[in-house]
Amino acid sequence: MSLQTLIEQATNFPESGSAASSTFSTDSFDASVMSTYGRFPLALERGAGCRVWDTQGREYLDFVAGIATCTLGHAHPAMVEAVTRQIQKLHHVSNLYYIPEQGELAQWIIQHSCADRVFFCNSGAEANEAAIKLARKYAHTVLDIEKPIILTANASFHGRTLATITATGQAKYQKYFDPLVPGFYYVDYNDISAIETAISELDEGDYRVAAILIEPLQGEGGVRPGDVEYFRKLRQICDETGVLLMFDEVQVGMGRSGKLWGYEYLGVEPDIFTSAKGLGGGIPIGAMMSKKFCDVFQPGEHASTFGGNPFACGVALAVCQTLERENILQNVQDRGEQLRSGLRAIAAKYPHHLTEVRGWGLINGLELNADIQLTAADVVKAAINEGLLLVPAGPKVVRFVPPLIVTEAEVNTALQIVEKALATVTA
Ligand SMILES: *Cc1c(COP(=O)(O)O)cnc(C)c1O
Repeated sequence: MSLQTLIEQATNFPESGSAASSTFSTDSFDASVMSTYGRFPLALERGAGCRVWDTQGREYLDFVAGIATCTLGHAHPAMVEAVTRQIQKLHHVSNLYYIPEQGELAQWIIQHSCADRVFFCNSGAEANEAAIKLARKYAHTVLDIEKPIILTANASFHGRTLATITATGQAKYQKYFDPLVPGFYYVDYNDISAIETAISELDEGDYRVAAILIEPLQGEGGVRPGDVEYFRKLRQICDETGVLLMFDEVQVGMGRSGKLWGYEYLGVEPDIFTSAKGLGGGIPIGAMMSKKFCDVFQPGEHASTFGGNPFACGVALAVCQTLERENILQNVQDRGEQLRSGLRAIAAKYPHHLTEVRGWGLINGLELNADIQLTAADVVKAAINEGLLLVPAGPKVVRFVPPLIVTEAEVNTALQIVEKALATVTA
């Protein structure tokens, strides 16, 4: 079946656009759910392809995709089929037994990456936790480091657990949650001398740098692509010193960049990397991949009850196979080019307000002038009013992360709405 047919099937989902349930109340929601999110005042209840509908029946073009997660959009036939098949067959058993779907998904990832081994879990933070634990065990047992240090970048994002907010080089995520986990140190992104200095200066007593955890492209930190030369030197330093090179591919991986993994843009391979967001197309799953030489876990040393269950793995495998079968990476590259050139044309019309358009494939950022009052949230709100969902990446960058199946016409519609929204907020 062609990609176009699949999209048509998805967008012709029987109930799309029909009268909505209007019983939903934000007040009763807020009275019962913890206010961990600053929510926009709309409730989504249905989706098809790159479109979603709220409880008032209003349609939106979805350029958030659950924050870079819904790889195949909403209600994609391949996912509907996989979810239905797997829930009828077997959805959960313990990792005390062999799970065929888990093995198949691991083999697909290994065949399509530099990895030799996979550990499955349920989220990006959990995948990074696994990487941190693996790096520490490797440091203790192979590198003979008593107090291993992991270097991470300023403006990075690695998750919300205690270890991953510590790894995250942004104070706003750490405030009130101290004492933080020891053993992390921050360096500026894309600055090789900062890495060299840290590795030499942190070599003291029992302390030594054991690993570097870094995003090939910083997502939450403002859609900042890694520098090819910087990453080439990182790889060289790690080869010379034995320090593990670990990439957080949670946002940029699984085809979002236009290549399957973000590291393919940088021409270097990590020793360990993590994936989550796009991996299951919206079904919760995370994974930590490693080369054989640093796969040091023994039975009982790390685990996850839900990690790699038949349901999550069966669906993620269908997402992976669809990505490949439908040649969706080509669409990501083409639509990404189209989006960036359209955004650049818009930016040229607002030279005082917009400073840069950057990104890879279908992870792109539109940066606003730091010296004016206008924020990314202002632009996002105006776009929502015009029927387009967008998400900020920091205070000054508007992020565009649509489903990877987005069409040429949908990108054009999004660009028109962005232009309208900008006219409104700059008026
Ligand atoms: C979203 C994200 C995470 C955290 O993933 P969760 O599934 O929310 O735990 C970690 N790293 C990066 C780069 C992310 O974008």
